[in-house]
Amino acid sequence: AAKEAAASGAASTSGPTIFEKIISKDIPATIVYEDDTSLAFRDINPQAPVHFLVIPKQRGRLTQLSKGNEQDEQLVGHLMMIASKVAKQEGLDQGFRVVINDGPQGCQSVYHLHLHVLGGRQLTWPPG
Ligand code: ADP
Repeated sequence: AAKEAAASGAASTSGPTIFEKIISKDIPATIVYEDDTSLAFRDINPQAPVHFLVIPKQRGRLTQLSKGNEQDEQLVGHLMMIASKVAKQEGLDQGFRVVINDGPQGCQSVYHLHLHVLGGRQLTWPPG
């Protein structure tokens, strides 16, 4: 409940998000993949034995999936493929889940687009 409440007011529109500080290496993260346009790193509060995030490195532009447009198609597709590639790298050969939380009801708390990739245990459905 606290998390939902925190998330509901969340859209912090000023200043760099925590993920931008990770991109600029101002704060540390365990990076598992990086290329020119994207970065993947371990979630600090993992919800499964393997839980990493995939984000675009382009700064301060795409805050959430629902703000995307046609120009973002290639980028979003690339992030998906990186999710799959790193899942394989992490040994998730029995399956995994990719999640994008969008907006307050989606429980988004960091307003920089990110894909969650979770695996390493039997996941259940539906999510909360
Ligand atoms: P929620 O917090 O509801 O999962 P999001 O979908 O916005 O909302 O996810 C943000 C994710 O970022 C959370 O899973 C959180 O644990 C993770 N996170 C926050 N700060 C850091 C950090 N410094 N390093 C790695 N992961 C982080």
